[in-house]
Parts: sequence; structure tokens; C-alpha cells
Amino acid sequence: MAESRGRLAGKNAIVTGAAGGIGLETCILFVREGASVLMSDISGPALEKAVAKLKEIVPDAGKVETKITDVSKEPDIKAMVEHVDSWGGVDVLFNNAGIMHADDADAIDTPEKIWDLTQAINVKGVWFGSKHAVLSLKRHGKKTGSIINTASVVALVGSATPQLAYTASKGAVLALTRELAITHARDGFRFNALCPAPLNTPLLQDWLGDDKAKRARREVHFPTGRFGEAIEQAQAVLFLASDESSFVNGTDFVVDGGMTRCYITPE
Ligand code: NAD
Repeated sequence: MAESRGRLAGKNAIVTGAAGGIGLETCILFVREGASVLMSDISGPALEKAVAKLKEIVPDAGKVETKITDVSKEPDIKAMVEHVDSWGGVDVLFNNAGIMHADDADAIDTPEKIWDLTQAINVKGVWFGSKHAVLSLKRHGKKTGSIINTASVVALVGSATPQLAYTASKGAVLALTRELAITHARDGFRFNALCPAPLNTPLLQDWLGDDKAKRARREVHFPTGRFGEAIEQAQAVLFLASDESSFVNGTDFVVDGGMTRCYITPE
């Protein structure tokens, strides 16, 4: 069994988008730190692969289960959160699932259906997750809880290569997270937003493909000269999930290698 005195010992955690880059790395850390983890994702086959990888990396993993969930559908989210009722209710929810659609563009060229799809997953999914986490925390009489919502640095600085629906969706995540943090502060339920910079995960890398110019336009903005890694986001999520961050609430938690603090002059 996993170490029972880890940083998340005794906590029940749910991670959405658990089969993806940030989600899987987070599940691995959560399990290592003693949490019981429900891995949720829209893709069943990807979830199977992800849980197999997790168990290979952490052979003494404690409780790890999977749940196919489309975060844009409230009945799915309700069922996901209720899945951990028999475990004692959720303590940590990482609302991490998100898309950046290849057809997302500027004000003129973004198709309305891509706008709606992006908001449905990236914004409504976070709302549904937050809603059912709060209902569960109250149902189980919890005095503390941590909800972490994945936004993006583009919610802070905007993207020069347009992806308007995505950028707007992540701005909404920051705004709703802030308000939820204030609303539930006296319940003991913390809400923080994670703001990753562009990373080496399929979400971005599949989209960039082998288009060198498209890649260079982004890499140039990093003082480090490199994209971030999913594990670097997961380490921040672990901190926000744990009681070590008990006085951290309502933050835009930026993990970007200094990208949003930097004035770069390309050679
Ligand atoms: P990823 O594409 O590797 O993983 C995303 C996961 O979400 C996938 O497993 C996918 O199946 C799942 N998913 C997609 N739609 C879903 C839905 N409707 N319901 C449930 N699951 C769904 O992406 P990632 O890089 O790990 O991104 C995770 C989060 O981080 C996203 O919210 C993304 O917007 C954000 N983010 C990523 C980057 C980056 O560069 N990768 C930068 C900033 C923010």
C-alpha cells in the first residue's frame, strides 16, 4: 500500500482530464502522497492506459479507480463526485480537463460551434465540478476542502497567436475561481486557479506538430528558452491540494518559468 503518512494521507481526490499530461502526473503524485484517487476523463481507452501507467510507476498504489466523465455534462459530474461518497466524500477536486481546439482562431474566424464547445468544457465543466464538490463537502460535513481549477497564462496576458475562445474560457475560470474562493472561505473550502504556461503535453504539442515557425513563435517568450513540463504543474497542484497551502485561497497560481514577467527581444 502507498505511504499512509504522505502529504495527502486520508484525502479523497478527484482529477478530471486524468488521462492527459498534467492530469496523469498529478494523479501519480497524489497517489504517492497517500491520497485515494478517482481518475476521470472523457476517453475510456486513454483512462485505461493512464491507470496502467500509474500502477507501473507506483506499484504499491492505494485506492485508484477510474470514471468516464464528460465534464460538460452535469449528470456525468454528479455521478463522478458521488462515486467517492462511499469513500467518505471528496476532499480535493482538480478541475483540470480542458480543450484548445485546432479551429479556434481570432474574432473573425472562430466558428461559433467551436466557441460554444470550448466554453462548455473549459468553463461550464469547472462550474459543474465546483458545484458538486461543494455539495459533497457539505453533505459529508467537511470543514476543509481544496478545489483547484486549471486556467492558463493566456488568461493573464493574452495570446499573440489568436485562440479567442480558449483565452476567454480561461479568463472565466480565473474569475469564477476567485468568486468561489470568497464565497466559501468561511466554509473552509479553498479555490485556487492554476495558470500553466505552454507545456510539453499532447494538448499543445499535437497542435504544434512539426510546424517549426509556429513552435518558435512560442518558445521565444520563455526566459528559460523551453516549454514547461507537466510534472512542474503537478507539483504546484500537490501543494494547493495539501494542507500546506491552508492559507492560500483565491490565487491565480502561476507556474510559467517567469514567462509572464518577461520582456523578450528576439534576436
Ligand atoms: P491534455 O490534452 O494532455 O489532457 C487533457 C485531457 O482532458 C485529455 O485526457 C482529454 O481526453 C480530457 N478531456 C477533453 N475533453 C474532456 C471532457 N469534455 N471531459 C473530460 N475530459 C476531457 O492536456 P494538458 O496539457 O494536460 O491540459 C490540462 C489542462 O491544462 C487543460 O485545462 C488545459 O487547457 C490546461 N493548460 C495546458 C497548457 C499546455 O500547454 N498543455 C497550458 C496552459 C493550460
